[in-house]
Amino acid sequence: MNPVKFWMLSPPLNAGKRAEWVHEEMELETVTCPIDEGHQPGGRRLTNISLTLAKGPVEDFVWTWYSECLLQEHVLRALQTGGFSGFEVKPVKARFRKPASSRAQNLWELVVTGWGGIARRESGIKVVEHCDGCGHTVYSPLSNSEMLIDEKKWDGSDFFMVWPLPAFPFVSDRVAALIRKARWQGVRIDAPTEFEWGDIGITPGRLSYYMPEARAKELGEPLGIY
Ligand SMILES: [Zn+2]
Repeated sequence: MNPVKFWMLSPPLNAGKRAEWVHEEMELETVTCPIDEGHQPGGRRLTNISLTLAKGPVEDFVWTWYSECLLQEHVLRALQTGGFSGFEVKPVKARFRKPASSRAQNLWELVVTGWGGIARRESGIKVVEHCDGCGHTVYSPLSNSEMLIDEKKWDGSDFFMVWPLPAFPFVSDRVAALIRKARWQGVRIDAPTEFEWGDIGITPGRLSYYMPEARAKELGEPLGIY
C-alpha cells in the first residue's frame, strides 16, 4: 500500500471555539436566478471577515461557522519562513465576544491558491444538478475517498484545493509534519480516507468565491466552475 501523501485540515469536532461572523460589518454579493426562484446560490463575500472569538485562549488555528480557516500570526510566520506554497492570506478583524474587548487579535484568513484538480469520477463525486441561469450546482457525495485525488492534476503546492471541496484545505506531507511537530492546536489533520464524509450532496458555489479573482478565472473557466 502506498503511504499517505496528502492530508486535509478541518475544524476540531468540538465546535466551542468557532468564531462568529459580525454580519453587520460584512457584505455579500446577492445572486438571483433568472430561471428558478428556488435557487439561492449565495454569492461571494465582498469584504474581509469581521468576527468575534469564543472566550478563553485563542488557538493556533481558528475556524468560523462557515468553515473559513484562520491562522494566528506565529503560524503564518512559520509557514512563510518554511517556504510553503499554495496560499495567500487576507486580514481579519477579530475581537472577543465576551467581555466586549477592544483588544484586537492578529488573525489571518487562509486563502488556498494551490490546485489539486477536480475529484475523480471514481470517488463517486459527479454533477447531479446544474442550472445555467445562476450556476447553482449540486454534486453527489464522496463515496470512495481512496479515489478522491487525481495526483496528475495536483500542481505540487503545499496547500491545495480539490473541487468541489473548497472548505477543506488539502495539504502536503510537509505541512502536516510541521503542524504535528509544532503541536499547533485548533486543527484536525486527517487522510481523506480517515475522514467521515457523510452522504449529502455537495453545493460549493463557484471557485471565484474562494480564490483570488485572476487565479479562479485561470483555473475555473476551462472547467466551467469559475
Ligand atoms: Zn438557477
